[in-house]
Amino acid sequence: MSNYCVGVDIGGTTVKCGLFTVKGELIDKWEVVTRKEDGGKNILPDVAEALKAKLSEHQVANDDVAGIGLGVPGPVEPDGYVSVCVNLGWKDIYPAKDMEALMDGITCKTGNDANVAALGEMWVGGGIGHNSIVAITLGTGVGGGIIVDGKIVAGAHGLGGEVGHMHVRDDEHEFCNCGGQGCVEQAASATGILREAKRNLAKTDEPSSMRDFGEELTCRDVCDCAKAGDKVALETLNTCVSYLAKGLALVTYVVDPEVFVIGGGVSKAGQFLIDLIAGYFAEYTPLAKKKPDIVLATLGNDAGIYGCARLVLD
Ligand SMILES: [Zn+2]
Repeated sequence: MSNYCVGVDIGGTTVKCGLFTVKGELIDKWEVVTRKEDGGKNILPDVAEALKAKLSEHQVANDDVAGIGLGVPGPVEPDGYVSVCVNLGWKDIYPAKDMEALMDGITCKTGNDANVAALGEMWVGGGIGHNSIVAITLGTGVGGGIIVDGKIVAGAHGLGGEVGHMHVRDDEHEFCNCGGQGCVEQAASATGILREAKRNLAKTDEPSSMRDFGEELTCRDVCDCAKAGDKVALETLNTCVSYLAKGLALVTYVVDPEVFVIGGGVSKAGQFLIDLIAGYFAEYTPLAKKKPDIVLATLGNDAGIYGCARLVLD
């Protein structure tokens, strides 16, 4: 049996790479600049070149590598086909097949980045010890990854786990990036929370420490003010979190996970945020006598490389 596996998390700006033992210990990690020009044709060759150098540096032979997992920021079909990936300039490509050719036949697999991040959190992160987890990333947008019985639920069209675009809010009239209105992402992303705070500040004269930040106000400030007991900030966060919890309740009635793992920049608000989510979640799931745990993600930006590496171990 091989002792090592490799995770390659391909982002629009950089490609994060990690060399792991098959037990999930990170040996080394490095980054490669994502060259998106010319239809992204240099991306995989650049990654392969850097990877070959790293394997030789750590004296790891090709036949001691169980595989290389590739995480892609876009839909991936079950056979690994990527019809289009706007963030990388890719069109009509089987990234794993191309990578295998570049890496002298080492087995490669491709997954969607949010889904593989969930797999990483299940392997050695916040969801460790569980088989069925839903990972939610609250960042600029809201991403999701669903794993049931150890398997990623990618769906027939690559839309499985797109919890950020579930419609949960009827009184939202602005449009989401997806073209819809009232998505979880519009309420519970960092962008969404900040927007809600600004709306609330505009409609009241109530004093609020959020006003001290002026135009510089960030989602983090909103969370900090709420923690300190600021009324308008608390109201804001309660509204946003209630919509997120509604989304989690819907997911629960479809896949009934053991645990929700909450990550992304917004999750830096910590246990305060988790407790707030759990309160609304309980209200929306009376049928669930035994509630899933709601926990913080622990791998941060490395969840992707862990998950990509784990992808090749099945
Ligand atoms: Zn949307």
